[in-house]
Amino acid sequence: MWNKLILLSVVALTFNYLALAYEPSPLQDFCVADPNSSGIVYSFGLHLRGNTSNQLGSKVTPVFATQLPGLNTLGISMVRIDYAPWGLNPPHTHPRATEILTVLEGTLQVGFVTSNPDNRFITKVLQKGDVFVFPVGLVHFQRNVGNGNAVVIAALSSQNPGAITIGNAVFGANPSIPWGILARAFQVDKSVVDQLQAKF
Ligand code: MN
Repeated sequence: MWNKLILLSVVALTFNYLALAYEPSPLQDFCVADPNSSGIVYSFGLHLRGNTSNQLGSKVTPVFATQLPGLNTLGISMVRIDYAPWGLNPPHTHPRATEILTVLEGTLQVGFVTSNPDNRFITKVLQKGDVFVFPVGLVHFQRNVGNGNAVVIAALSSQNPGAITIGNAVFGANPSIPWGILARAFQVDKSVVDQLQAKF
């Protein structure tokens, strides 16, 4: 009897937590984040090319609730990603969103890795017009494998999807994760950890 009650409580708590992890259905047509905003709250220009002159050769231009206040409570957002030739959007994950992407221009290799214990790597080369989905929480990337520029539009199932770039989170944490933890975790020497931490 008590065992069953405890089990039911645990199940109920688990469902509560699951429910809390997702945005609830809106209670109104819209709920503009900043009603005093002088900008246009329901529209945003994504026509401009992102500046890809950086180490990775890619640039993400977000359209989240911060940029487009009219998105508040709606559970959806969008990004434009530009890639220089051979540019990379490095391995990262969105803690709160599934991402669906379509190629507007160029040729991209995309991929993601399934969760433990399989860690299966799923990858594909996409051409203009192809669509690919990155399931919520999974580590994924895109790389321009063509000699021209590439551009994609991606939609995300949260107004605030979040992003965790693996390299930055692991080797660029502030303050740093102690080197002994990283050396043991990655089975490398301190010098390798130092080198990676210096880069991030
Ligand atoms: Mn992504």
